[in-house]
Amino acid sequence: MTGNAARIQAVQNITNRQPTATTFPEPLSTLWASDVFTLAKMKESLPKEIFKSVKKTVETGAELDISVADVVAAAMKDWALSKGALYYAHVFYPLTNATAEKHDGFISVQSDGSVISEFSGKLLVQGEPDGSSFPNGGIRSTFEARGYTAWDVTSPAYIVNTDNGATLCIPTVFVSWTGEALDKKTPLLRSNAAMNKAATRVLSLLGNKDIAPVNSSCGAEQEYFLVDANFVNSRPDLLLSGRTLLGASPAKGQQFDDHYFGAIPERVQVYMQDVEEQLYRLGIPAKTRHNEVAPGQFEIAPFHEAANVATDHQQMIMTVLKNTAKKHGLVCLLHEKPFKGINGSGKHVNWSVGNSTQGNLLDPGNTPHSNTQFLIFCAAVIRGVHKYGPLLRAVIASASNDHRLGANEAPPAIMSVYLGSQIDNVFEQISNGKITGSLNAGVMDLGISTLPIFNKDAGDRNRTSPFAFTGNRFEFRAVGSGQSVAGPLVSMNTMLADSLNWVADTLEAHLAKGVALEAAVLATLKEIIDTHGAVVFGGNGYSAEWHKMAVEERGLANLKTAADALPVLKEKYIEELFDKLGVLSPVELASRFEIYAEQYILAIEVEAKLVVSMVKTGIYPAAVKYLAELSSTLSSLKGNGITLDAGRLTTISESLNSLTAIIEKLSAAIAQHDFATIEDHLQFCAKTIRPLMDEARAYADSLETEISDELWPFPTYQEMLFIK
Ligand code: ADP
Ligand code: MG
Repeated sequence: MTGNAARIQAVQNITNRQPTATTFPEPLSTLWASDVFTLAKMKESLPKEIFKSVKKTVETGAELDISVADVVAAAMKDWALSKGALYYAHVFYPLTNATAEKHDGFISVQSDGSVISEFSGKLLVQGEPDGSSFPNGGIRSTFEARGYTAWDVTSPAYIVNTDNGATLCIPTVFVSWTGEALDKKTPLLRSNAAMNKAATRVLSLLGNKDIAPVNSSCGAEQEYFLVDANFVNSRPDLLLSGRTLLGASPAKGQQFDDHYFGAIPERVQVYMQDVEEQLYRLGIPAKTRHNEVAPGQFEIAPFHEAANVATDHQQMIMTVLKNTAKKHGLVCLLHEKPFKGINGSGKHVNWSVGNSTQGNLLDPGNTPHSNTQFLIFCAAVIRGVHKYGPLLRAVIASASNDHRLGANEAPPAIMSVYLGSQIDNVFEQISNGKITGSLNAGVMDLGISTLPIFNKDAGDRNRTSPFAFTGNRFEFRAVGSGQSVAGPLVSMNTMLADSLNWVADTLEAHLAKGVALEAAVLATLKEIIDTHGAVVFGGNGYSAEWHKMAVEERGLANLKTAADALPVLKEKYIEELFDKLGVLSPVELASRFEIYAEQYILAIEVEAKLVVSMVKTGIYPAAVKYLAELSSTLSSLKGNGITLDAGRLTTISESLNSLTAIIEKLSAAIAQHDFATIEDHLQFCAKTIRPLMDEARAYADSLETEISDELWPFPTYQEMLFIK
């Protein structure tokens, strides 16, 4: 074992590590949602009428009768106290992908100095965390810094247990005192309402009488890396930016594909079990776990839920993954690209819409009637992705996701839709104006309907598509592993609402002219596929031919970096989309651009500063020390009549000089702050700072393979990826 003292110590710590104690898991029936104030618990503890009122709000989105809040608060408090909670927290989701909470005690001091525990309806429904330090994109000036949280009745309250005690957590929206959304939950709820309204219009035009509220659903597959904390602590880049900014490729990477779906290492399995137990207690339906492609990479996927609840749960999954890793001596990396040359991590956001009366509206089903419904909703999605593809690209744009998109391991930055051959073929028939049948499904019965019948699995999988139909839902596969799923869900719901309103308008116009419903549906479908079919693509999304064809022949946008994509949020047609549907006002949208742009710039600045400091204080000293040792050894050998080739001295010193020169340039670039517009600053980060960092890395990584391993200051890829 070679390596500098810190690395040797790290490896020794890992080798001598005592495994985390395991306990036999409790039965699921005891664990499940035991820390959640579920509807079932409310039913037990609330008067009948009050419970009915809350249930109605949860299930139909009906307005909450404020008089019930006091009663619910009292029941919630009793339950929380019985679980050992002394504090409650309004939990909210600022525009940083993080989860924020402000804790308040149930304690209330009486006039005689005694204390009681108190929790009124008002405290449950509304909070005032201030939170003026969260980025607000210019919405709040400091003199009007008030921010309010308000209870989201549709997402259940729960208890978080830590070694320091239990806290009752209440999911909330976070708005400014002027009512502008400062968070990710508010627009998600609004987008769902807009989609519900538009979907109901369409369903009713299709002849449905009984139509329950339509809700969006989400099941997000989460990829992550686990690295031993001993290594992370000696890597300033991993510690502060979540990714390795330097590091030569190991002799063995992922080329054998021997990690994918392999046996889960024991230490990791113990960790996963711990994570799942906590998730079950929180009522989060973790379902699937497996090794991913890269060494040290894993995935967890829950069962899908209503989009709003799934989003809160997704945030909790990320928190639990990170916190539990610490307990096991690991660090969970949610960065999209922690290791160069090794696959990065994404979050596949599975999304659909449906209700309790018509079911999943993106399920092809096997009756002509539901086929009509399916084709309409599917076509509406196609129209949405074609019209608002750049928006979908913008909401997944970040400094970290840039490393993944288009790098032959994840979908390209071009937004296209994959449908599978069977549905592709149906739309082709619709476009040709003559439906003859559906592939693999035999001849359809023209007597019943002009629409073909589908097989359940309506096509193959296509892993290279950013937006793929997967049997009964769409899978947005370009979302980054560390991102909140709220942004993608908001834009999917909103583009669908816009499309469904267009569909309803078009159908109404046809019907008003006396056209029969079936013909009106076909004409509408044909118009969509003829106008927006260019976004449908079933081939290899990684190929150079597609990148060329998409842009040159099909007119699709290829927004390669976040610097190219974020300004889409400022486009007039995007502003109109959100404003028209009441999802985000122009001011709220503008604030989002400001915040995401600022975060991109800050993230790249932090990385660039880390590169400079790691080179100056770690790599340069190591290289110089090695050169000094080597040259003195060579000359003393020469004095003894032994002449070794001194070529290495030249190679190393040349690399070191080049590296130093680039670091000087990089330092100067970081210091530059005078930009005419924020767009210019974004481009400077993407086109000047990032390439300088890459250049520096190339020299630093070559030095890593040249100088003595004993002197190398940072844990290597081999150590981080393979020692567990
Ligand atoms: P794969 O990796 O092959 O895409 P997984 O089984 O890992 O498949 O993940 C599928 C995900 O899709 C799960 O999170 C699941 O809950 C989700 N899903 C299934 N049906 C729906 C639906 N109707 N709406 C939203 N998500 C869904
Ligand atoms: Mg998937």
